[in-house]
Formats: sequence, structure tokens, C-alpha cells
Amino acid sequence: MINPERLLQTFTTLVQVDNPSGQEQAMAQTVIGLLRAQGLEPEQDAKGNLIARLPGTGEPLLLSAHLDSVAPAVGKRAVVDGAYVRSGGDTVLGADDLAGVSAILEAVQAIQERDGAHRAAEIVFSVEEEVGLKGARALDFSRLTARYGVALDLNGEVGGICVSAPAHDQITVTFTGKAAHAGVAPENGISAIVVAADAISQMQLGRIDAETTANIGTIQGGAARNIVPEQAKLVGEARSRNEAKLDQQTAAMRRACEQAAARHGAQVEFQAERAYGPQKIAPDAPIVQLCEAAARRAGLEPYLTETGGGSDVNVFNTHGIEAVNLSVGYQEIHSTNEHIALADLEKAARLVFALLEV
Ligand SMILES: [Zn+2]
Repeated sequence: MINPERLLQTFTTLVQVDNPSGQEQAMAQTVIGLLRAQGLEPEQDAKGNLIARLPGTGEPLLLSAHLDSVAPAVGKRAVVDGAYVRSGGDTVLGADDLAGVSAILEAVQAIQERDGAHRAAEIVFSVEEEVGLKGARALDFSRLTARYGVALDLNGEVGGICVSAPAHDQITVTFTGKAAHAGVAPENGISAIVVAADAISQMQLGRIDAETTANIGTIQGGAARNIVPEQAKLVGEARSRNEAKLDQQTAAMRRACEQAAARHGAQVEFQAERAYGPQKIAPDAPIVQLCEAAARRAGLEPYLTETGGGSDVNVFNTHGIEAVNLSVGYQEIHSTNEHIALADLEKAARLVFALLEV
């Protein structure tokens, strides 16, 4: 069965390893060591994603979590405070997603210690999840055979099964106007900042509808106080759980940029990349039923949920692996107040253990 002390020890050990996105090598080495100690033979693909196989009965189930955490993720420590584990206050805790990694490691070890058969699994610990699912998007899927899977990378009470997540367009816009002396001859210039502002004023942003959102996240431009700005760059995004609506939203943002550029006689380069497709799993899909049954065996109340954020499961589904994201119970993630209840860490591990039971 799950060993709570060992689970906490694993989690504490992982939290103490620096793991900013793109710098997961120390974390990967630590996890490789823990997997080898269990007798598994982890490998890394060219991107640095960790893949390990748990031999067992039947079709393998993909078990996944990510190795990186959002900044500040250097100098982290786990402070046990009553029923909770918290960060030291000056970094994130990194329960997102080291709680998921720890739950999988503990469950895989515990199921191997138990007599009798267990389900086969393919374990993927991805890199660079927090910076646009870059690790999963570059994952060498030829190394996997699983057709069903779970990620442990969702907020909310343990038992949550996320069946719907949006597709995501990453948008980059560069406006080019014409530089001129702002005092001597402004009429000779075309302000790229004014063009960008005009374009943004014509965009519908924020919450578009129940399943669609859009945002301009950064704006950069200009060279000096006294120069009519020649360039302005916008970085933004659009998301929707409905891909047709996402197409419409991104097209509308493109139109706003092109029309503003035309009004001012400026140039515009509008780039939109579909970073990943939507996740849409039927409520009665086999993977959902498997997770519901496992949750009940683990003494948890399963419930279905949706999210406005993407995760590695979006990429798994795009590659034909029917996957859901499972709640880990971490709280106030992406902040220095991040924390997780010891009980939730244990529940997450019990849930993975139950998924491996046959
Ligand atoms: Zn995460």
C-alpha cells in the first residue's frame, strides 16, 4: 500500500531540486535515480522528456506529470506546517507538478511491492510544460504504445477528472510604421504604437463566451521619447474548447490588425500558431470510467470537470492517446503561497495506485 512517509520524503526531495522550465536536467537526474531504485529503466528522448515502462498486465496506461515549475523555482524548500506542505515563502512550492510526479513514483513503487498482478504502464515526465507544453509537443511518441492515459496536473479536490480543455492559438503581431523626428516632422512618420492601439481597440478580448477567451499579454515598441515609433509588437493568445470558435476569434484579431494597418498606411505581420488542439472526452469514455472506478476504490468521490487552461493531455489527445487530467489538490499554484495538504498528496498517490490495480 501507499507509504505516506516515503511519499512525503520523495516530494520533499524533489521540491529541493531547482526546476525552472528549460532547466530540468537536475530534476530529471533525481527522478531517474528514484526510478532506477525501483528497478525501472528510464530513458530520455532528445527533448529531455523522461519515459519509463512498468511491465504488467494488459494494455499499458499512460501516467504523466511534468518536471518543471513556474518561477521562482530556484532555492525551493518544502515546509511541513501542520496538515500542509508550504513553500518557504520566497519561491513556489512546485507541487505543480512535483506532487503529481511524487504520487506516480510512490504508486508505482507500492504496486510493485504488493503481491499479484498489476496493470502495465508507460510513465512520461515531461519538460517545459509551463512554457506552452513544449516538452510534450516535442515528445517522441514513437516510444509509446498507450492508447489511454492520465496526467496528474490539475487543481481541485482529488477525484476531479477533467474531460474538456481549450485549444490554444499563440499570436504575435508586428506593426511597422515610419520613424520621424517627433518635434520637427511628426507628419512624416507613422506611429506603429498608434496603429497597435487602434488595432487593440477594435478587438474583443477577455472572456468571449463560456468556452472562448482572448488576451493581448505584452506590448513593446518605440525607440526613444522624441522618435515617432517605427515598430510595435504585440504578443497575445486566444483559446476555446470549440475549435471553430477559436478559428473565428483568431481571424477577428487578424482582421483588426490588418484594418488598423491599412487605415494608417502601416505594415503588419500577423502570426498565429495553433500550439495545441482541444481536449474533448465523452463523459462515458473508457478512460473516464476507468478513472471513476479507480477513484471509488481509493475511497474518493469522482467528479467530472472542465478547464480554461491547457496541459500535456491536450497534446496526448492530439496524438490519439485518449487522456484526462486528474486533480492533485494543490492550491494557490503559480504563487509563493502555493501549498498542498498532506492528505491530498496521499489521496493522489492512492488514486494512481488504484489505476494500476487489475
Ligand atoms: Zn502543471
